[in-house]
Amino acid sequence: MQRFPLLVMRKAAGPTCAVFGLAVLLVWLLGTAGCTYMKTRTPGDRISYEEEVGRQFSLEASGYFRWMDEPEVLDFVKDIGHRLSANVVGTPYEYRFYVIRDPTMNAFAVPGGYICFFAGLIAQADTVDGLAGVMAHEISHVEENHFIRGQKKMEVANIAGLAATILAAALGGGQGAAAGVTLAQAAQQTASLHYSREFEREADREGVELVQVAGFDPNGMVSIFKRFHALARLNAADLPPYFYTHPLPADRIYEVEGWAQAMRTVPRSRPQLETQFELARITARLRTERFDALAAEQKAKMDKNPQDAQERFLLGYLYLKRGNLPLALEYLQTAFDMDRSLVEHYIYLGRAYHLSGNLVRAKELLEGAYEMDPRNTLTEVFYGDLMAQGEGWLEALHHYQRAVILNPRSCIAHASLAKAYERIQERGKSYYELALSDKCAGRYLRAVYYFQKALKHLDKDGRGAKLVQAELEWMGIEE
Ligand SMILES: [Zn+2]
Repeated sequence: MQRFPLLVMRKAAGPTCAVFGLAVLLVWLLGTAGCTYMKTRTPGDRISYEEEVGRQFSLEASGYFRWMDEPEVLDFVKDIGHRLSANVVGTPYEYRFYVIRDPTMNAFAVPGGYICFFAGLIAQADTVDGLAGVMAHEISHVEENHFIRGQKKMEVANIAGLAATILAAALGGGQGAAAGVTLAQAAQQTASLHYSREFEREADREGVELVQVAGFDPNGMVSIFKRFHALARLNAADLPPYFYTHPLPADRIYEVEGWAQAMRTVPRSRPQLETQFELARITARLRTERFDALAAEQKAKMDKNPQDAQERFLLGYLYLKRGNLPLALEYLQTAFDMDRSLVEHYIYLGRAYHLSGNLVRAKELLEGAYEMDPRNTLTEVFYGDLMAQGEGWLEALHHYQRAVILNPRSCIAHASLAKAYERIQERGKSYYELALSDKCAGRYLRAVYYFQKALKHLDKDGRGAKLVQAELEWMGIEE
């Protein structure tokens, strides 16, 4: 675990400690006094009690997981999440969505609006409506404050302890993180995130309504639950962690099915959303499974449906991500020839041409993408990269700035803008954008490191320095 030497500890009310290992965490869970490098705010402070639990969780969890930042997964999950949370009327929470690079099938909500998905759950989702259903269920846990309501009174008083409990539970659910923990401990920890039957029912009921209001099909929730249920039956001896936190007895599924069917839904064609979902799912698999097996599976799907442009596109995308440009170009080009109705087909073929050195063709395709959808973050980023290739850094900067404006929550947009600022010697702004990029992915500790570096280069009284100071203050760090 890396701690950053520049991290300056705030003089906190409680005990402070720079090194925070799993051992300390487990000691904490046993009720012994632990240590933290953050200031513990008390209830009634400027931000709410639940937000404080979430804030502490996100800072502590930062160093324990590998956070995904690929726009195909992270930006997509955030998009679905914010579509849903935007429909929660009067919510006091600012929602933040993250994806953990781990094949475990799990998702969990942290008080205060932090929702984390493991890549394994995205890989197992059968439809975009199903994924939205799981997300809506988690949002409902946050809205109803289930975690804190389910704790014993004494535990609730200890914010740091609550954050540690959630982290331990989440770690129990991650294969990569469970190395120092026995399986029994892991299962026990994961189970501590278990909600009562009554809370699960409430989250289902409200989740079904939320997906419906947000324009998704509530039947997707039923289908994903059935899929999970079948997976659990197949693998009863080694249940994915999701089942410890969300038991899925048949009666629960029937009940959700009844609610979903009572709602009037009009099936709609959403080819772009479906494409984005397929890209998210295959990228989640790419980062957690063996490439050869995944490519062979996708090739078999394509061979089975030779007229299906989508399967071909996804195979080309896999090769593009792998860096196999000849095969990427072959499949992306043939998919493009079959179906030019989707902006993604332009964007990724353009990218493949760019990386292959055919800048003219790349430019044509990215301009085609821009014409189809002038508000696409990835088009701006890839177009900026193309300009940067020709040393047009100022033009690249302009496109990256636009990408950030279009989607301020996009890691890749901030990381690209950082690259351009560095190139034109704006070091303070460059570190600031790097910090935002890390923060967007959930890498809060690294964000602190870059915010502190940014402060050293920014004009002390300028607006940039004030923004950085506010970020550091939120994280409980004195610069
Ligand atoms: Zn639940």
